[in-house]
Amino acid sequence: MILLTSPAEMHAWIRSLNGRPTIGFVPTMGALHAGHEALLQQSQSENEATVLSIFVNPTQFNVDADFDAYPRTVDRDLRIAEHHGVDAVYMPSTEAMYPNGWRVFVEPGTASDPMEGGGRPGHFRGVATIVTKLFHAVQPHRAYFGKKDYQQLAVVKQMVAELDMDIEIIGVDTIRHDDGLAMSSRNVRLSEQDRTAAPIIQKSLREARHAVASGLTDARDIEKLISETIGTEPRAKIEYVTVTRARDLARTEYIDETSVVCVAVWFGDVRLIDNIELHLPY
Ligand code: AMP
Repeated sequence: MILLTSPAEMHAWIRSLNGRPTIGFVPTMGALHAGHEALLQQSQSENEATVLSIFVNPTQFNVDADFDAYPRTVDRDLRIAEHHGVDAVYMPSTEAMYPNGWRVFVEPGTASDPMEGGGRPGHFRGVATIVTKLFHAVQPHRAYFGKKDYQQLAVVKQMVAELDMDIEIIGVDTIRHDDGLAMSSRNVRLSEQDRTAAPIIQKSLREARHAVASGLTDARDIEKLISETIGTEPRAKIEYVTVTRARDLARTEYIDETSVVCVAVWFGDVRLIDNIELHLPY
């Protein structure tokens, strides 16, 4: 496994490869867990080489304290990468990525407008920019993103389609703890009580899925149902509960066969997001 720490090193490594092996790429911010491992496994099974990037990207954090508090576990991450047979780990410093500060941005499309777009101004502009920079460095055939960050996946798909990037974007199902909480690097920052309370998110989403299977189709009623369930947990503070069309994340009145409900919920100073796809029973 080779460790590369600048765009120039990454370019040199890509040029040194014999032939043109298919490259699967898994971009992360590190603090790896089983969710990231699922992405690595899928990339390994579908490509000749896998590149993992670990970069806590300052331009996608709209709150400095969140950037500073983001967990960093590099030694452990490298062991996990090795274990999964990763070929190259791309781990540039902030200075290597942004030697001139940040003056050029990639403007994300309409998929970035709702939900996270409202609560985290500038977040998806940072994501679109860093993903573009990483894609230019790694030049992957396929890139793997978790459905846990459903809106991020939609923003990246829209960007790749509209900017004619020749990269297949693959969405991977969310990996969860036994109690249903979606795995996230941020979970380690939850207090013990908040960690115990947080599975209410998944519980509320599963209830909504059952309600839809029983015939509920009104999007506002589904949002209300989820909000009420999360509201039974006094430690939870809801930021949004939104039913959207999976295709473009437009808010809908009624669900159709491609709907997804996304939520953001605070526990103390930790912000958790989750979602569930909703399917009509017929
Ligand atoms: P992050 O390091 O949090 O930026 O995440 C890197 C990638 O891993 C993103 O594509 C995430 O959507 C994905 N990811 C994070 N958590 C999970 C999870 N629980 N299950 C599947 N993928 C995940």
